[in-house]
Amino acid sequence: MAEQTIEHAQPLTVLAEDEAIFRDAVREFADAQVRPLVREMDEHAKIPRSLVDQLFDLGVMAIEIPEAYGGAGASFFHAVLAVEELSRVDPSVGVLVDVQNTLVVNALMRWGNDDIKRRYLTRLASNTVGAYALSEAGSGSDAFALATRAKEDGEHYVITGRKLWITNGNEADIFLVFATINPEAGYRGITAFVVERGVAGFTVGKKEDKLGIRASSTCELIFEDCRVPKANVLGEVGKGYKSAIETLNEGRIGIGAQMIGLAAGALEHTIKYTKARKQFGKPIAEFQAIQFMLADMATEIEASRLLCYRAAAMKDAGERVTQFSAMAKLYSSEVAVRATEKGVQIFGGYGFIKDFPAEKYYRDVKLCTIGEGTSEIQRLVIARGILGAQ
Ligand SMILES: Cc1cc2nc3c(=O)[nH]c(=O)nc-3n(C[C@H](O)[C@H](O)[C@H](O)COP(=O)(O)OP(=O)(O)OC[C@H]3O[C@@H](n4cnc5c(N)ncnc54)[C@H](O)[C@@H]3O)c2cc1C
Repeated sequence: MAEQTIEHAQPLTVLAEDEAIFRDAVREFADAQVRPLVREMDEHAKIPRSLVDQLFDLGVMAIEIPEAYGGAGASFFHAVLAVEELSRVDPSVGVLVDVQNTLVVNALMRWGNDDIKRRYLTRLASNTVGAYALSEAGSGSDAFALATRAKEDGEHYVITGRKLWITNGNEADIFLVFATINPEAGYRGITAFVVERGVAGFTVGKKEDKLGIRASSTCELIFEDCRVPKANVLGEVGKGYKSAIETLNEGRIGIGAQMIGLAAGALEHTIKYTKARKQFGKPIAEFQAIQFMLADMATEIEASRLLCYRAAAMKDAGERVTQFSAMAKLYSSEVAVRATEKGVQIFGGYGFIKDFPAEKYYRDVKLCTIGEGTSEIQRLVIARGILGAQ
């Protein structure tokens, strides 16, 4: 009988050659260039510009931007790998790269016309950081209740209002800003604008003093009669809700990647510690109670990685990811919270002080059950998907 040929699909975690080379380069960079700065960046709540420049040189600030605009022309999956590897060492650096690629660049590539792509993708690929400004003091989970107003005036829109919690606010020169052209129209009034730092009427306000990812800047943005040319509307007027929601649906996979990196980094430190720390005459790694915690951490991290890689592969394949990106973000962030809590427990008293890395991972992790949609909102999205599909 003739032998049947069975074609096997590539396992999700076995990387293609170019992906493995890219992942290794980012890992090497994170260990050599980022790790020595982690403590100082956390203490000073700042990522030095020299490190941002190195991220541009490494090619991780323009991963999906086509080569014609100066980017790497790689995939969303590559962006996920970069965010994971950087977050393993410092999630603040991970989120800077994540916002640039999975939100700002992603939105401009998808919704920008040729003019916007030419003017802004080239800058984002060479040396300019971007930020994504949707949230306001009164509109977080209910993002489309935003109050920032854009009024038409000849060839411009005049923007007035305030944005809150904007990641990369300190470093960015290009801001993707969501405002309404007609509050009575509800979400159908929401429009996306590309706003440059330095334009009259726009200032970056207070930088928040945070529990974790302290080196990542989180800022208020203030718009007072800020005139933005109509040519800077991203996508269609009144369709900003669509670009916001679809970009966030994909961006959540990046937050998932940040979380698997963070949790994996915490686990690496914890494993090392359990082999070095002795109590009752032996390394604590020999106690079954400790082994069980390590086993749970490792298993849940692997499961998160599968969810994230799958969602990223779906995005690259052009499939609808809404439910799957919410699952990846929800699960990875909750796993990372559990893993870092176990990390502190295993470090004992040394987990509670700043001389060891466990306490920083434990502080850094908490943002991720909140930012880009809280865990409760992810559950709503997943439930809507499941119930709608029945
Ligand atoms: C460090 C940091 C960085 C950020 N970066 C950015 C950024 O770059 N750009 C940007 O636009 N935003 C950013 N955000 C804002 C972030 O997306 C919001 O904080 C988040 O969406 C939650 O909104 P909120 O803080 O207003 O909480 P709220 O929406 O007020 O929620 C409060 C609580 O109510 C729950 N809740 C709300 N609605 C429901 C519901 N329908 N059902 C069940 N529970 C519900 C929430 O889950 C939460 O537990 C950032 C926030 C932080 C802290």
